[in-house]
Amino acid sequence: MAVNILFAAKPDRWPDYEAPLRRALDAAGLAEATLSTDIAPQDVDYIVLAPNGPVTDFTPYTRCKAVLNLWAGVEDVVDNPTLTQPLARMVDHGLTQGMVEWVAGHVLRHHLGMDAHIHGQDGIWRTDVPPLAEDRPVTILGLGALGCACAKALVSLGFDVTGWSRSAKDVPGVRCLHGDAGLRDALNTAQILVLLLPKTPETEDLMNADRLAMLPQGAVIINPGRGPLIDDDALLAALDAGHIAHATLDVFRTEPLPPAHPYWAHPAVTVTPHIASTTREETAAQVIADNIRRSEAGAPLLHLVDRDLGY
Ligand code: NAP
Repeated sequence: MAVNILFAAKPDRWPDYEAPLRRALDAAGLAEATLSTDIAPQDVDYIVLAPNGPVTDFTPYTRCKAVLNLWAGVEDVVDNPTLTQPLARMVDHGLTQGMVEWVAGHVLRHHLGMDAHIHGQDGIWRTDVPPLAEDRPVTILGLGALGCACAKALVSLGFDVTGWSRSAKDVPGVRCLHGDAGLRDALNTAQILVLLLPKTPETEDLMNADRLAMLPQGAVIINPGRGPLIDDDALLAALDAGHIAHATLDVFRTEPLPPAHPYWAHPAVTVTPHIASTTREETAAQVIADNIRRSEAGAPLLHLVDRDLGY
């Protein structure tokens, strides 16, 4: 039977994805597959999904074998009660590499104190030399596809890296912690904290006033994970009190971040507009084609979402 693949994202994404997906399907031995934005639901075998796209009710897709998410985050689809098919999330080399570069850049900005020289072109000869990376403890909350890659990159730059996850992990060069006791330790030592957790009921407001207070005085927070990981009022209070020296935030509860939001004007906050990384069409297409090939061959899908855990 022919394989029918529905591309279900906003219409402007189709021109970017059509050729890379076609190439990747050909390379995966699926040259005969039909790939379209318009297939009768009862004939669809796979849905390539952007959660902000046209498919929100999966009920009519009676023959669908899997839903392949174009995004790493699945919080907008994982609780959909009509979704009974397996859901795979995006783990893409391009997405991962983009996140590694963004995190490394922002960690280095704070580690080296670059702002003093970028903003301080005022004739003052500032001679403070930053410590070496090996003397800079960095903690990453979340040791998944992205957190793990960022941890390894920071280790290769020499940083003293601690990682924290739900389950126990072993990442070379990284002090790996987990569970509640591990979180306290991970926060107590973090001069720079990077959040790369998914948004789930367990992670929402993880960085509340109590957890922010566990960070050392003058710590910096970098959040490319999800906005709801942070209690915004608690963070603003910690910034105003000087307990947190700076927050670099890429993700927010409401996006775009409303112009009147206090983060925009706060002198100790850097806002970036959810650009830390993105799915890259060429590499993501290969991941999708490979997963369809696996499914058609009876092999388990890669990057399956655990619906109970929510990520
Ligand atoms: P992932 O592979 O699913 O990894 C998630 C990590 O979080 C895992 O290490 C997991 O622990 C840990 N975790 C989940 N719930 C936890 C909990 N309750 N307590 C402790 N640890 C917990 O996800 P990923 O691909 O690395 O992506 C992470 C997030 O980055 C995405 O969900 C998305 O929100 C965000 N993101 C942002 C951008 C951007 O441009 N800003 C781009 C892509 C993704 P285990 O290892 O024990 O399961």
